[in-house]
Amino acid sequence: MAKENWIRVSRDRRCPVCEGADNCSVSRDGAAVWCGRIAEGSIRQNAGGQFFHVLRERDDSPTWPRRRDDPPMAPASWPKGSTNREPKSPTKDWGRIAKLASECAGAEAARQELATRLGVDADALRRLGVGWLGVTRGWSFPERDATGQIIGINRRLLNGQKRREQGGQAGLTFDPNTWLKSVIEPEFVFLVEGGSDTAALLTEGLSVVGRPNNTGGVELLAELLRAVPTDRIIVVVGEHDRKSFEALSLSQKTWHKPTCDGCSACWPGKYGAVTTASKLAVRLGRQIAWAFPPENAKDARAWLNSQPTDERIE
Ligand SMILES: [Zn+2]
Ligand SMILES: [Zn+2]
Repeated sequence: MAKENWIRVSRDRRCPVCEGADNCSVSRDGAAVWCGRIAEGSIRQNAGGQFFHVLRERDDSPTWPRRRDDPPMAPASWPKGSTNREPKSPTKDWGRIAKLASECAGAEAARQELATRLGVDADALRRLGVGWLGVTRGWSFPERDATGQIIGINRRLLNGQKRREQGGQAGLTFDPNTWLKSVIEPEFVFLVEGGSDTAALLTEGLSVVGRPNNTGGVELLAELLRAVPTDRIIVVVGEHDRKSFEALSLSQKTWHKPTCDGCSACWPGKYGAVTTASKLAVRLGRQIAWAFPPENAKDARAWLNSQPTDERIE
């Protein structure tokens, strides 16, 4: 790619991989990064000691490269000044929508049903504010900012698919009253992916916050986790979602190395955990750990469901 297609990072536009304000460059479309700090998850290294990360797929359709008169493309992972984000909707009261759903007549039965499906406690779902929107719209998982205010809703349909409500923002899934409390393993705070994993760790009696996806929510987490005492260990939990070479897309196959130990293409769960941990470490000025769920479970919920019931904390 020509030199003018790379933008040096700065204080206003930090590196999406390491959060640094120097030593890294981002492609103008935000799809790739030469990061000067983080090797983990990169696909090659240059002579200058920078590591090449692919953040998302390039559009291989004939419209790429974009035409001159196309509107300017905002780097997707750089929030500042970007023009392609969904407008925030101040008119929608997400807190009220979530409250109505969680307190409606069918809500308790719906939480019981979902608890059975996921193998978690209905009480964990209640504490997260999970509600019921009806058979066609499914369960509502409220997503919050760092103050606990609800800023968006992620729906879970009966077939297990997830849909984020339009106009809302992707936020964190947690119980604002008790997220720092922990019945067992009180030295840890776990950061998992998604609402059902959050419910799984809550069921275990652990201190947990759910991230909106593998790499998202860093800004909100940095704000929320300032309250965590330094003697506690913050652990970003990754997912065992590694893909085989055959499962990669055609364009990924052209650059993917067989020796890869986990990049954004072949192992999003690991890549997201590593980069989230390093970004939080920079933001919070403390060590942040990352780990996989024990015993090769795909995610925290799979691990919970593999445990004998009598070992669970009730
Ligand atoms: Zn970097
Ligand atoms: Zn890879």
